Amino acid sequence: MTQPIRKLLVANRGEIAVRIIRAAKALGIPTVAACSEADIDSQAARLADEVHLLGPARADKSYLNIEALLGALQATGANAVHPGYGFLSENAGFAEAVIASGAIFVGPDPDTIRRMGDKAEARRTAQAAGVPVVPGSPGELFDVESALRAAESVGYPLLIKASAGGGGRGIRLAENAAQLSEEFPRSQREAQAAFGNGAVYLERFIGKARHIEVQVLGDGKNAVHLFERECSLQRRRQKIFEEAPSPVLDAQQREALCASAVRLTESLGYKGAGTLEYLYDDVTGEFFFIEMNTRIQVEHPVTELVTGIDLVQAMLRIAGGEPLGLKQSDIRLNGSALQMRLNAEDPARDFFPSPGLVESLAWPQGEGVRVDTHLYEGYRVPPYYDSLLAKLIVHGPDRSTALARARTAVAQTLLTGMASTLSLHAELLQQPWLQTADFHTGTLENWLSARRSGGEA
Ligand code: ADP
Ligand code: ADP
Ligand code: MG
Repeated sequence: MTQPIRKLLVANRGEIAVRIIRAAKALGIPTVAACSEADIDSQAARLADEVHLLGPARADKSYLNIEALLGALQATGANAVHPGYGFLSENAGFAEAVIASGAIFVGPDPDTIRRMGDKAEARRTAQAAGVPVVPGSPGELFDVESALRAAESVGYPLLIKASAGGGGRGIRLAENAAQLSEEFPRSQREAQAAFGNGAVYLERFIGKARHIEVQVLGDGKNAVHLFERECSLQRRRQKIFEEAPSPVLDAQQREALCASAVRLTESLGYKGAGTLEYLYDDVTGEFFFIEMNTRIQVEHPVTELVTGIDLVQAMLRIAGGEPLGLKQSDIRLNGSALQMRLNAEDPARDFFPSPGLVESLAWPQGEGVRVDTHLYEGYRVPPYYDSLLAKLIVHGPDRSTALARARTAVAQTLLTGMASTLSLHAELLQQPWLQTADFHTGTLENWLSARRSGGEA
């Protein structure tokens, strides 16, 4: 039934398109970069064996254009699509259309994408697998009266979350019933406009939690975990600095968390790479599932460095019909890895977008240093897409060595022509609470606002 991948269409752009092409080359699979007009001179287009033009720069005319992507498969004879992250990566309709055209979608089957992409449904699925979720409404809510009733047992403060939300969007805080009455219809309207689905649900707001997530791989029959990543340092609910493993879990907590993720993954008959996100309370040691991302994640490299497993190659192998070929006992945790996201945003101007021309560029070197990027000197970063420029990733035998390597790597990096979050990372790496890992999901924003008002965090 499953066919081997003969030629791979890369339905994405930026650093992840380059990353996917690199994995395909390692496996001897020819690639097609499916590009918008704005990305014709991109590194992915230079690196791929073939380039196929999808359409104009606007994402809805190119990277979100299902017809154009199906056309690209036909025109190039590619028999598989890797969707990367963002864009159509969690769009079940796209996966279905690819499969209906006779090609392979590199990811789980459409039903699984649909089920876990609906966050209220994902919560129910987790509960059925015996995985604890954040206390919340039993399911979607459709009017203010039922939201107010549900809130009595959920408790305040709470979050109103869009079932179809993602990328840190579609989440609002309500501290009391009056705010809930006001915010609830707004959330519904916003969710409808942003995700084409107005369904929302309630979740208790956990103020001092860590974001810890578990990487899994499955082949439809068996599943394994590749340990966890700590992603608590966020701005606007988007990750900025990530690491593996979490600096706060002991072996027993790690085992409990990762085992719950494998249980849920196996209950889905999951095929491919996935991530189960949790909130972790380091006072009580309790963890609560929040959502599953049925795709490769931006921060996957830290897991690759501590396990030695190439996740994108694993995705391609599984999609081509190979069994997992990995036992849990084969997967070992080695040292500590950190990732710093360089975004084209100006930390001195409230993270105002700052795409521009890459004038000069130098990447760090040395032991345990990896850079995932699509930049090159003379490249003009287009203003239409995600602001991610590069990921600086370091690995060391322990966390303090990794931190020292991170400081050197940041100091070695030169990027002129635009503002970026490089300067933020230089400062971040000096903070005592980063060094002791004494932080939660609100820490980075608290620190940023203390800095803005001139104080020290
Ligand atoms: P990760 O956990 O890998 O960091 P994110 O949730 O931050 O994943 O999303 C990865 C990328 O996909 C980001 O560039 C984000 O902007 C984008 N993204 C994720 N979900 C959506 C969505 N529903 N709509 C638009 N963009 C999204
Ligand atoms: P998205 O799909 O946008 O990634 P998530 O449900 O993963 O949405 O939430 C994004 C971030 O918001 C989390 O990483 C966490 O920092 C914060 N968050 C989510 N749910 C809660 C909660 N119940 N309490 C506190 N913070 C939360
Ligand atoms: Mg999330």
